[in-house]
Amino acid sequence: MFFDPATVEVASELLIGGSRVAGHSRHPVRSPSDRNIVREVSWASADQVGDAVSDAKRAWRSSRWGATPPRDRARVLMRWADLVDDHAEELARLESLVSSRIYSEVLARDVKVVSGVLRYFAEFADKVEGTVTATPVESLSLTVHEPHGVVAAISPWNFPMILAAWKFAPALAAGNAVVLKPSEMTPFSAIRIAELALEAGLPPGLFNVVQGDGGVGAALVRHPDVDYVTFTGSSATGAKIMADAAASGLKPVSLELGGKGPQLVFEDAGDLDRLAKLIARGITYNSGQVCFAGSRLVVQRGVADALVERVAAAMRDLPVGETWSPATGMPPIINDRQIERIDGIVRASREEGAHAACGGERVEHPNGAFFAPTVLRGLADDSRALREEIFGPVLAVQEFDTFDEGVALANHADYGLTASIHARDIGQAFRAARAIESGTVWINDWGRRTDFTAPFGGYKRSGLGKDMGRPGYEKYLKSKAIWVELA
Ligand code: NAD
Repeated sequence: MFFDPATVEVASELLIGGSRVAGHSRHPVRSPSDRNIVREVSWASADQVGDAVSDAKRAWRSSRWGATPPRDRARVLMRWADLVDDHAEELARLESLVSSRIYSEVLARDVKVVSGVLRYFAEFADKVEGTVTATPVESLSLTVHEPHGVVAAISPWNFPMILAAWKFAPALAAGNAVVLKPSEMTPFSAIRIAELALEAGLPPGLFNVVQGDGGVGAALVRHPDVDYVTFTGSSATGAKIMADAAASGLKPVSLELGGKGPQLVFEDAGDLDRLAKLIARGITYNSGQVCFAGSRLVVQRGVADALVERVAAAMRDLPVGETWSPATGMPPIINDRQIERIDGIVRASREEGAHAACGGERVEHPNGAFFAPTVLRGLADDSRALREEIFGPVLAVQEFDTFDEGVALANHADYGLTASIHARDIGQAFRAARAIESGTVWINDWGRRTDFTAPFGGYKRSGLGKDMGRPGYEKYLKSKAIWVELA
């Protein structure tokens, strides 16, 4: 065992004004690896959400964080990043205890992404400049950038600390205050990371954490003192948040939502053994609970049989297990509701005539909820397995003959978050990349790398706006034109 889950201590409170504050009602948080391991977290009442936002606004005004010299802001974030690295093991335990993230992956990757994101955005603080616009010489027009004020950040459970950091790091570096609401299923890493910010010198109240479900999130979005809303989660929730933000003060929003990414494979793709391993990883990593999972294999007919056989072989024997077990290759599904949903979609597909090249059912396990890595072929065009984001280790196969057919299948009716194209003919690959409606396209690859420079965000129902990269910083600023009459 990487750690003993029974002995992990968690903070069950909210963090407001730099102090832990008991919430309004207590709720169980179960580990998906072992339903016997239960912790509690206290959820904020609507009044406490109000306190957290008002406190953040007060702290933002009194600390003059937005007007603090950018290099001083950067220094705080750099110290904070070092503290995150120093507390890597503690944070990894908190994350793995209640999420699907395997401890060794959190330690090797997720914690480093958090500290890396803090450093990356700290470096922006004194490098994003205003402009002097082209006006007649008798006048001067300056464009300056200013923080919004209080940013409400709402994050999901599938990569809890990374996806929260994509929001709080740039928002704070740009001079805002942040109130974060993590997922009710994975609440514990965020509060410790926020406490490390205090230790690094961030003024108390600039980064508050409230806990709770969608009702708490909605109260946060609707609060009149919130100036900007940044969200990662499902498309359905994103739509509600956009409506709430519009109804409660026309607040700007950015939304990182769901996906149904294609792996578009042309016959000239090359080494099928290598490709099969990549495609298998694209749907089994974090048990497919990944917004950019390559969940549809859109393959040219000539290589379909050979490739599907190899993908199924690469997926078939992955060992499922607890997030704290070194033997685990594929972690649990987050909760019973989600495993029922995956099972329901796979069953319905099979009843409609699809067959499973591997998997197709749950894995028996004494405690956790696990689903076997599954490849479905022969799906009806309108099957749920092709239309819906399954968020599990289920790969849906579609076959095509011509380039145009392949691109048409790769383009999903609703989603456009990521797509992969596999082809040796680079001209064909580029033509496909331009024709696919998607915020990210990988050619001969799949998956986000740990660099921070590329903006990430979807087309269509996959989102609005970008996280990461320069746009992921600039969205936390608004611009003001200042005119000077010189004549
Ligand atoms: P979810 O939409 O159910 O919940 C996300 C967060 O929103 C949670 O904190 C939840 O409590 C909160 N919430 C729920 N209802 C709310 C409401 N009405 N108002 C305000 N907040 C509310 O999503 P999830 O199940 O936690 O996460 C999985 C989804 O997230 C998938 O669809 C996945 O594709 C998507 N996702 C997208 C990205 C991306 O970068 N595009 C990254 C990770 C996950």
